[in-house]
Amino acid sequence: MQDKYTYGPVPSRRLGFSLGIDLIPFKNCSFDCIYCQLGKTTNKTIERKEYLPTEEILKGVKEILKKGDHIDYLTFSGSGEPTLHSRIGYLITELKKMTKIPVAVLTNGSLLFMSDVQKELSDADVVLPTLCATTQEIFKKINRPIPNIAIEKVIRSLISFRKIYKGKIWLEIMLVKGINDSLSEINKLKDDVVKIAPDRIHLNTVVRPPSEKYALPLSTEELQKVKNILGDNAEIIASTKTKRGPAYIIDIEKTIFDIIKRRPVTLDDICSVTGLHRNEILKYLDRLQQDKKIRLTKHDSRNYYEAILQEV
Ligand code: SF4
Repeated sequence: MQDKYTYGPVPSRRLGFSLGIDLIPFKNCSFDCIYCQLGKTTNKTIERKEYLPTEEILKGVKEILKKGDHIDYLTFSGSGEPTLHSRIGYLITELKKMTKIPVAVLTNGSLLFMSDVQKELSDADVVLPTLCATTQEIFKKINRPIPNIAIEKVIRSLISFRKIYKGKIWLEIMLVKGINDSLSEINKLKDDVVKIAPDRIHLNTVVRPPSEKYALPLSTEELQKVKNILGDNAEIIASTKTKRGPAYIIDIEKTIFDIIKRRPVTLDDICSVTGLHRNEILKYLDRLQQDKKIRLTKHDSRNYYEAILQEV
């Protein structure tokens, strides 16, 4: 079993086998995205502080590395925006001393306007920011940011970060049907993406149960049209297929399935019963859905997982 600050390695379409490192307690974030798979933001903030104990996090990663599992990336992500942690720079530096495994940071990019944050990320091998909008109106609809963040500032920070950062930038564009997928918005996104000059563009859509039920996915054909507009540098990464990786434990899958068989449950319910990290549980839920053992239902606008009973 993992310590409470790490999860995985989980198979990730973008990062191979990724060991997730969570720096932020659920759910502190500067955004409250309608498509968020973790649920609603309970503390919308841009306050930077040591949310979780830095040395404990490092100790946890060290223990996992000793096991010698195959890991492609050490990835800062998890239960909120990782750059809110005031010691992320120190953590990256220490991990780089500990191992040759590359370090990745998933971020919503909202704190990159702070020069300290830009400097602190400079030792990471790859930074994966998400961009969903070019206008304040769409930004507010889809990301629901803390009020004092302007999308223009986020885009300007991404452009300036690109100029000083020597590692790779893989920009994710998260598309939600009817909200940021119009031709005019995609063309505006393209103009900004050219200025940001990421090494790769990852096109994604809503594949896991979103925070708001009206956050709907684009079809593969619709994603393909967006890819054609954005050019060769863009690739579609939306996928519901989950591989069983080296850290996939059949007993955990069974435990989760047994909980769901008893009664429909939410992600939070499974979290409190098992003590596992949300992102770890999502990996098993993906697989159980893929195997048609469970399905998602909605009640009072909450997502519930229920068992699909097999006929005998
Ligand atoms: S998707 Fe990321 S940025 Fe958006 S609310 Fe969830 S954790 Fe925050």
